[in-house]
Amino acid sequence: MADDRFPPLLERAQAHALDYLQLLPDREVLARASRDELLAALHQPLAARGEPGAAVIDLLAAQAQRGAGACSSPRYFGFVIGGSHPVALATDWLVSTWDQNAGIYVISPLVSVVEEVAGQWLLALFDLPRESSVGFATGCQMANFTCLAAARHAMLRRVGWDVEGDGLYGAPRLNVVASAESHVTIDVALRYLGLGTNAIRRVPADAQGRMYADRLGELLATLEGPTIVCAQAGNVNTGAFDPLRDIAALTRAHGAWLHVDGAFGLWARASRGLRGLADGIELADSWATDAHKWLNVPYDCGVAIVRHADDHRAAMTSTAAYLVQTQGPERDAVDWVPEFSRRARGVPVYATLRALGGEGVEELVDRNCARARQMAEILADEAGVQVLNDVVLNQVLVRFGDDDELTRQVIAGVQQDGTCWLGGTTWHDLAAMRISVSNWATSAEDVAISAAGIVRVFRALRGDGP
Ligand SMILES: *Cc1c(COP(=O)(O)O)cnc(C)c1O
Repeated sequence: MADDRFPPLLERAQAHALDYLQLLPDREVLARASRDELLAALHQPLAARGEPGAAVIDLLAAQAQRGAGACSSPRYFGFVIGGSHPVALATDWLVSTWDQNAGIYVISPLVSVVEEVAGQWLLALFDLPRESSVGFATGCQMANFTCLAAARHAMLRRVGWDVEGDGLYGAPRLNVVASAESHVTIDVALRYLGLGTNAIRRVPADAQGRMYADRLGELLATLEGPTIVCAQAGNVNTGAFDPLRDIAALTRAHGAWLHVDGAFGLWARASRGLRGLADGIELADSWATDAHKWLNVPYDCGVAIVRHADDHRAAMTSTAAYLVQTQGPERDAVDWVPEFSRRARGVPVYATLRALGGEGVEELVDRNCARARQMAEILADEAGVQVLNDVVLNQVLVRFGDDDELTRQVIAGVQQDGTCWLGGTTWHDLAAMRISVSNWATSAEDVAISAAGIVRVFRALRGDGP
């Protein structure tokens, strides 16, 4: 018999969710609540006796307005976050409802097939080699890890070393090359892989953050033995792309493995107008990206793609006596990601891709980039405001009064103002405001209101009033 405890709780959660979403476009974007305030509301010794579930749900929902940053607000421009597309969010509810352990086919044929198809769609959307294997990990950090584990496996096996069996003790030296501008998660992935961060050889990058291909060539000429090169599509500050075709040619000539971190930049491949930025990316051996950023699925979802499926599987697969693994074409997710038990995070990817279609994704990416250019143009028109990067994608770096301190004050002031939210960075030794437009819901009006808010804060700090 159906359990009558579900409907009242799910209906309550739905009502809270709809309230949250209703208020989202107009609410302050920052989280106003302090840790103390949240602790006062939420902390108590674990009670011996429980409370009614409805009361617990109400308590948490009541804290979300002041305690949660409005990350899916159309005026949230911090980090590279992305909103939740309505279809993605609704599908994610179903994923929780189904409670599938998506690790192996036998537990969930549905999820296995949905993720298999979603993977094929991503390869088509990005126009990457169709024989590549795909894994849905928690984020791009773990996607980088997965791809680099495949690279480590392949490059060491080529020199006769079984890294899965024998580890790295006594192994031949593996050279790792990355851009001076590579994302911190590349370092973390290399750390997890036992390759260390001090051993990374850095290739200098230009003013936009693009690796110099000729400097890579010079470095590779000095290296002997198995080598992995990490390039980037979409610098986390500027959105710039490494010259991937040149890098791929050099890497191939050296017999090295090329990995590309395309956490958000890989999505430029969905746009006819932008795909030239990632020209040559299809020549790499592995690619890491995020779906929770530009595809706007709820957290969390990253994607690892490897041209050589055997290397990918060899690096990730688990076997145990009690596991029932498939022998046929059916797909076991444990073969392609670090996780064992896992959430069916590929399902919202399937739903969002199906609902948007290729043209819908293209439109989302193009629209966000147009909004980023709009933001840059409005801000650059203000005397004393400088846009530091070429706005080639969805990222804008802004500096105020050519002054580090003033720039930091404007960032803090905008955060407190609450009209929009964005963060700061240091770009080539200069403090800068960092704006990322990666939400399907961000309109031209949102950008106009936000830019006006930023200018207002800047003028007040500069001392000429609002
Ligand atoms: C966000 C990002 C990552 C890390 O992705 P997570 O999903 O946060 O793990 C890696 N590389 C780049 C370029 C990024 O922008």
